Amino acid sequence: MPRPIEALIHTDALAHNIARARRAAPDAKVWAVVKANAYGHGIERAYAGLQGADGFALLDFAEAERIRALGWRGPILMLEGCFDARDLETCSRLNLWHTVHREEQIDWLAAHKTQWPHQVFLKLNSGMNRLGFPPAAYRAAWLRLSGLTQVDGITLMTHFADADGERGVHEALAAFEAATRDLPGERSLCNSAATLRFAGESAEVRGDWIRPGIMSYGSSPDFPVHDIAHWDLQPTMTLQAELIGIQALNAGSTVGYGSAFTADRPMRIGVVACGYADGYPRLAPTGTPVLVDGIRTRLVGRVSMDMVTVDLTPVPQARIGSLATLWGRGPNGSVLSIDEVAHAAGTVGYELMCALALRVPTQVVGEP
Ligand SMILES: *Cc1c(COP(=O)(O)O)cnc(C)c1O
Repeated sequence: MPRPIEALIHTDALAHNIARARRAAPDAKVWAVVKANAYGHGIERAYAGLQGADGFALLDFAEAERIRALGWRGPILMLEGCFDARDLETCSRLNLWHTVHREEQIDWLAAHKTQWPHQVFLKLNSGMNRLGFPPAAYRAAWLRLSGLTQVDGITLMTHFADADGERGVHEALAAFEAATRDLPGERSLCNSAATLRFAGESAEVRGDWIRPGIMSYGSSPDFPVHDIAHWDLQPTMTLQAELIGIQALNAGSTVGYGSAFTADRPMRIGVVACGYADGYPRLAPTGTPVLVDGIRTRLVGRVSMDMVTVDLTPVPQARIGSLATLWGRGPNGSVLSIDEVAHAAGTVGYELMCALALRVPTQVVGEP
């Protein structure tokens, strides 16, 4: 028998979350952001659930090739653009739209021989200071691009640094509006946090294309301020495993490596066939929520490579083979958001879903 652990990818939840993004910006088109192998879900596994999007955005050329191999003929956007001049040949061959965020990428385009002019997204650095032209250089870059026969259309783009936080998007939006004033073309600004928190404010924020990533995968971009129930999002990945051991502890007994947990009374603990080699965060402390048979309980002791230990006090009926839900959908309609687990471990849902390990057998469930 294979080790009793698996991940489920929920097609219906992906479709629900994409529809939710569209509802937040009904006049905009939707890029499903599928970088990092669809945030760890697997591009091929997430594909059916993301069909409601207008295009796929990512940054790895090999992943773009996989989306074309699935039969997708619609738009694909390379969020970091070309890494060298030869990538333009891949863009021409696969009809990829690409971001232009620095001068050299324009040089490469100017020297590129193609029958089909490209769609480019010209990126403004609106304060994040990662990729993009500074506001003072933006217009000149636009003029240069618009003079190239290799370029067919230019979408104006920026990425917000603080859409999920207190600072919000208003300063960055003002920088974008100042830099793009009078420039023609479509616009793309919003990631998930901006879509959920600010798209309702104005057509300027919504733009023509939104770029929801994390919300599509059922994680709240501003947890713990708001959870997925608040935003009407559904978990798209379940990580579940069975109890393969049960131990009865006396008061004073300890659990696991480093004896990091000490029982203060007699209690039963369950040993779950999931550890950090499966993608469960090693730094999750005692108290991190877990479901056993759909009932909420807590992790106790240290996470090890192949196992975690859980308190069975609230689940007296638990036995060998009982189902532990590490995150996602549990039995009987129970839900444990990946955000709660991530938060307890001092990280974000993004990191946990991206880290789902290759050794975990994964199946796609549900209808779009
Ligand atoms: C990753 C990414 C997104 C999606 O961000 P989320 O926070 O996951 O919604 C949007 N735009 C760009 C440029 C990105 O790199």
